[in-house]
Amino acid sequence: MTPPRFPTDPHGWAELLAERTPRPPLKGNHRAKWAVVGAGVTGLAAARRLAELHPEETVLLLEARQVGQGASGRNSGYAVHASHFTGGFDPAKVKENARINRINAAGLDLLRERVTSDTLDCQWDENGFHHAAADETALREAEGFARYLDALEVPHTLLGQDEMAERTGTIHYKRGIHVHPGALVQPAALVRELADHLPANVTLHEESPVVRLVPGSPVRLELPDGTIEADGVLLATNYEAGKLGFLGSRIAGSTLSGSFTRKLTQDEVASLGTLKEWGVLSLHGGGATVRLTRDGRISLRNTAEYHGSILFSEAELRERQAVHRASFEMRFPQLKHVPFEFAWSGVEGISRNQTNFFGRQARNVWFAGGYNGSGVSRGTAFGHALAEHASGGQSALITDCLASAPASWIPPSPIRDIGAAWTVRQRFKGVGLDR
Ligand SMILES: Cc1cc2nc3c(=O)[nH]c(=O)nc-3n(C[C@H](O)[C@H](O)[C@H](O)COP(=O)(O)OP(=O)(O)OC[C@H]3O[C@@H](n4cnc5c(N)ncnc54)[C@H](O)[C@@H]3O)c2cc1C
Repeated sequence: MTPPRFPTDPHGWAELLAERTPRPPLKGNHRAKWAVVGAGVTGLAAARRLAELHPEETVLLLEARQVGQGASGRNSGYAVHASHFTGGFDPAKVKENARINRINAAGLDLLRERVTSDTLDCQWDENGFHHAAADETALREAEGFARYLDALEVPHTLLGQDEMAERTGTIHYKRGIHVHPGALVQPAALVRELADHLPANVTLHEESPVVRLVPGSPVRLELPDGTIEADGVLLATNYEAGKLGFLGSRIAGSTLSGSFTRKLTQDEVASLGTLKEWGVLSLHGGGATVRLTRDGRISLRNTAEYHGSILFSEAELRERQAVHRASFEMRFPQLKHVPFEFAWSGVEGISRNQTNFFGRQARNVWFAGGYNGSGVSRGTAFGHALAEHASGGQSALITDCLASAPASWIPPSPIRDIGAAWTVRQRFKGVGLDR
């Protein structure tokens, strides 16, 4: 059998940061009590919590690529407290949505604790986000979302077109909702910093793909230059769990893409409203997310599609960039002269019924992941809770995570490709000016 591959490219948020020396790959044969596979937000939180719970043990953390090259380092950088619940207000869903927000809030609290205790250098800005609508479908969504925020007691402010323009420098949005809790972050900086401030009893190996997992007691992990026998293994591999034989027909990868402008001049930034930095999430599920970043760039992401669970090639990114460009100029005609510096893509784990994965998969093997585009806070909470659950612990957070609905079956290709194409078309239906 051909071993699984873990390709990457130099088109992410990590490329905006100074170079970092990765931790050396795993070599030789090892015996450990615990191993965590995958060093995104889920794996980093899981490894930290295991280390706290088992201070006498060494926890091995294995990352196939370099830290910052997975979805956790390539997302749009919104660490949410309150999820955007779509489809109009339904009182019957308030209880379930409260459960999701409790998990988000737990993850946001854990991240804040790390950022402040270890003074992580990751452009953390905890002033919430703006959810906005430019077209009819999204305007209808605004109403339902605001009712959920009321019902869930999430502090927020309703904004008109002028107030949105005053804050963000564009008259594009007809309505906005400022959700007060939530943090913006440089995603690659966040995971690199988390990785570089792990407890002393976590040993991280980068460029160390686990190519085969044999469940049992102990679990055997095979890597290109070594093996591990571990009493317990936590998989934090997101949509790539299928490469190790888990959940291949339940979780798939959706490829998203966005672009960054060059750094704006002071005058250009001054044309972008009164806030020093901001993030706008579209109220249309297929709409753009737009940020003014701390280093003075506009970052805009507005494509999401099924692309075989892999990143875009350079040529494919160039094609998507034309879509980013049109959205950018529609919002910021005053910045038409500003070029994009580069584009990025990232792959996120999705399930057919938008659920998340948490729990035991085989003897001594547990998995958490698949956050459908909203995993910075939630993945942190899931990783933390998975470590406690695998260690035999109980908590309200574990109960909330375990209550995730079972995932629907995803058929294999080519039916998967046809189904995915249809799902994506549905997602973008009515996106109009919110694209
Ligand atoms: C473009 C984009 C924008 C997004 N925007 C947001 C946003 O603004 N806010 C938000 O909350 N969420 C957002 N998301 C989703 C969010 O990034 C993810 O939900 C979250 O990062 C998932 O974290 P994770 O640790 O579970 O998975 P990942 O970050 O994917 O980490 C899994 C890691 O496991 C490694 N791995 C896989 N298999 C193996 C193996 N066999 N051996 C060793 N290592 C392995 C991978 O290399 C990877 O680094 C976005 C996603 C994308 C792609």
